[in-house]
Amino acid sequence: MSQDQKQGRVAVITGASSGIGAATARSLHAAGYRVALLARRTDRVEALADELGDGAIAISADVTDRGALVAAADQVKQEFGGTDVLVNNAGVMLLGPFSAEQRDDYRRMIEVNLLGAITTTEVFLDQLRDGGGDLVNISSVAGRVANVGSGVYAATKFGINGWSESLRRELLPDVRVTVIEPGVVATELPTHITHEATRQGAKQLYDVAEVTAEDVAEVIAFALQRPRHLAIHEILLRPAGQAL
Ligand code: NDP
Repeated sequence: MSQDQKQGRVAVITGASSGIGAATARSLHAAGYRVALLARRTDRVEALADELGDGAIAISADVTDRGALVAAADQVKQEFGGTDVLVNNAGVMLLGPFSAEQRDDYRRMIEVNLLGAITTTEVFLDQLRDGGGDLVNISSVAGRVANVGSGVYAATKFGINGWSESLRRELLPDVRVTVIEPGVVATELPTHITHEATRQGAKQLYDVAEVTAEDVAEVIAFALQRPRHLAIHEILLRPAGQAL
């Protein structure tokens, strides 16, 4: 590992095995970050870590498994000394008409997209606070507009937005919170939809998507390099001597 990489900030990225997460890992690594790549598909994150070389580690972790996240946080602490940036990117978009048949999908989306991000954050929070960290939550335009067939997916992203807005105020000045809300981005996201007709329709839309995962990764890297302008009024609004 070079001296630069030893000094580089450390970014932990969930869902780094494909799409926006993998592109973000490449982009941040190219910018000098050391990166920890988390996902369930171990072969994919290992291949990406090998491709990136020094300053990249692959960790097998399901964001619905708190024990795996605690082990991941320990490993990052041990190998990189801590975490400066956490990118909560892992997600699934299991669209379809609202019905009892989709109930497993609803639970999964809430457990991965919303609870997964919340759990990963509480597990890594002490490390993020240590040196003035950054939390980046990947939301979506579905966190603002809810279309037919996307109710529960939208609920998870509306949830991410509400939770992030509270954290943004609460964690200042130790941790800066950034929310990214992409539109349709060309990734494998729609291929996991279980409702056949909806998957076909979504794939047609995604096949002609012009925004790439690399475009979103560039935005994330840009946001992270901006100076931290703290909203002083948020801090002053807290009762004296209290954390909130
Ligand atoms: P991908 O399907 O390419 O990536 C999703 C990632 O999430 C994969 O790396 C997958 O890894 C990971 N993941 C899924 N379930 C779990 C789990 N239980 N534990 C850990 N990791 C998990 O899609 P995108 O890159 O498009 O999606 C990334 C994020 O961007 C998502 O939060 C999505 O909602 C959001 N987004 C995407 C948009 C788009 O149009 N593509 C638009 C707006 C937001 P693995 O399966 O190996 O665990």
